[in-house]
Amino acid sequence: MGPRFIVDTNVGRLARWLRMLGYDALFINEINDRQLVAIGLKEKRVLLTRDTQIMQRRVVTSGRLKALLVKGDDTKEQLRQVVRAMNLNYEERQFTRCLECNQPLLSRTKEEIRDRVPPYVFQTQPQFVECPSCHRIYWRGTHWQRMKRELETLVEETTNK
Ligand SMILES: [Zn+2]
Repeated sequence: MGPRFIVDTNVGRLARWLRMLGYDALFINEINDRQLVAIGLKEKRVLLTRDTQIMQRRVVTSGRLKALLVKGDDTKEQLRQVVRAMNLNYEERQFTRCLECNQPLLSRTKEEIRDRVPPYVFQTQPQFVECPSCHRIYWRGTHWQRMKRELETLVEETTNK
């Protein structure tokens, strides 16, 4: 399964990237430290944060709640830190999770989505997946390609360092 995450609001942008890699990354917009810790413990999630105070809490120092202190402002650099520290896999599960809702995507046949995507997309794309929650349809179009390239760049930079 791999690790599951809860993402603090101070590193919120990491959630989308982790979902892009296919990892379960919970992000809640309005949440306080106590709730973050409670959900992390209950759902056995790794807490990602820039908050050094949370890191000093007994629940973290004792190892009951796994937490990773993320450094710097650059989202990609932050992602690199998480990928390295947690030994995440770039390849296996890319684009298996909705970027908006964190739900695992379900594969759909072309017939099922015929009326829900532009005709050109229907004609040219062989594979579609749908989010069971927001019902967004994903396919390997230009947006997807661009994200994939960004990820590949990130991987190269990670291995070169
Ligand atoms: Zn969704």
